[in-house]
Amino acid sequence: MTGPGYFAPVVLPGAAPVPPPPAPPPRRRSSVPVVVLLLVVLGAVVASVVSATSKVQAVVALGDVIAVEEPAPAAAGWSAGYVDEDGNPGRWDPCEPIPFVVQAGWIPDAGRADLAEALRRLSEASGLRFVDEGDTDELPSRDRTAYQPERYGERWAPLLIGWLPAEATDVGLGGGVQGVSAAVAVPSTGGPSLVSGQVVLDASNRLAAGFGAGTTDGEVLLHELAHAVGLGHVLDPTQVMYPQTTSSESVFGAGDRAGLAAVGAAAGCHPAPSARPLRLEG
Ligand SMILES: [Zn+2]
Repeated sequence: MTGPGYFAPVVLPGAAPVPPPPAPPPRRRSSVPVVVLLLVVLGAVVASVVSATSKVQAVVALGDVIAVEEPAPAAAGWSAGYVDEDGNPGRWDPCEPIPFVVQAGWIPDAGRADLAEALRRLSEASGLRFVDEGDTDELPSRDRTAYQPERYGERWAPLLIGWLPAEATDVGLGGGVQGVSAAVAVPSTGGPSLVSGQVVLDASNRLAAGFGAGTTDGEVLLHELAHAVGLGHVLDPTQVMYPQTTSSESVFGAGDRAGLAAVGAAAGCHPAPSARPLRLEG
C-alpha cells in the first residue's frame, strides 16, 4: 500500500481493475503501541447514462494494521460503508453536531438550497445534526488531511462539501461519475469513529436543481452525504443508496432510513478520539 489518500481511484467501465489490497498482517502486535487506522471509502454515484457501478475502497494503515473488510453492497435494505473487522459500522458521534464547510467557487445557483434541504432530510432520518461553518477556500483533494490545525484548529477538519469541475480536482469526477464521497474513520470503542470527510460534486456537468424526477443535484447530494455519514450501497434502485442515479423522485427509501437510523442518534453516543496527526505509512 503506497501513499496516503482519502480518495481511491474510481474504476470506470473499461478501466483496469484495481488490484486487491495485500493480505492484512496479523492483528495487533503488542510491540507496536499505537493503533491508528485510516479507513477510506470512496462512494460514487454514477450518472444514469453509464451502465456501470463504481465503488472502490482503499485502506491505508497507520501504525499497526487492523484488518478491514470492504462491505459488499447489500441486495436489499442497506449496508454500512465503513466497518471494522468485527463488523461494527463506522459512524459519527450523534451527540455532537457535525461541522461542515462549503467550497462554493463553482456552486450552482440552487446549490445552497439543495444542500440545505439534503441536510435537513438527512437530519430528519438520522438524528444527526450539522453545523454550517461557512465557506472555505480549501479545495477538495484525494490527499486532504483530516487534521489541519493551522486552518481549522486543534480538532478534526470539518466535512468539506463542494462542487468542482472534474478537471479541477483529482478526486475522481468525470467519466460519468457525478459525485464522490469519502469519510475518515479511526478506531474507537464500539466501532470506527467517522471524524472527517469530503463530498464533491461535478460542477462541469450541471444537473437539474432540486429532488424531483430525473437526475438531479439533490439526488446526488443525498447519496453522497449518506455515504459521508456511513452508508454503503444497496442494489435496490428504489433506494437513494443505489449506486446510480434513477429517474425517480429522490426520497430516502425504507432501507436508506433503516441504515441512517443505525448510524444515527438511535444508536447512541459514539465519542470520537481526539484529533491528532495521522501518521501515514506506505
Ligand atoms: Zn455511492
